[in-house]
Amino acid sequence: MAKCLYCGEKAGWFKSTCVECQTLLAKVQELGTQFSFRELLDRLTETSASNEKIQKFLEADVRGQGSIRDHITARMTNQLAHTMGQPTDTDAFKVKLIRQEEKQRPQVELKPGEIDPMRR
Ligand SMILES: [Zn+2]
Repeated sequence: MAKCLYCGEKAGWFKSTCVECQTLLAKVQELGTQFSFRELLDRLTETSASNEKIQKFLEADVRGQGSIRDHITARMTNQLAHTMGQPTDTDAFKVKLIRQEEKQRPQVELKPGEIDPMRR
């Protein structure tokens, strides 16, 4: 039995993606290229997939080029930069590298109610 590329659960014989993740992928494709993260989450939560599964799906880095979340972050960064007249060419892979660097940074102990501005 193969494991799903996205969530790691059983995918079925000769399948790389389980039925639920296939549904999630179809939802992402339906949205095209102009959607907000909020819209995406709304669409994904319409499916039968659990929140946990949706999280796994968004974080999965199937081709080693960054996760779906990284792709969306890159696109939104570029759109914002373009609007501000300073075009960038951020892509999912760069977002992934930045994310990995952030993880390696020493954790600062926060007081209650305090937010680390460098952390999402
Ligand atoms: Zn799956």
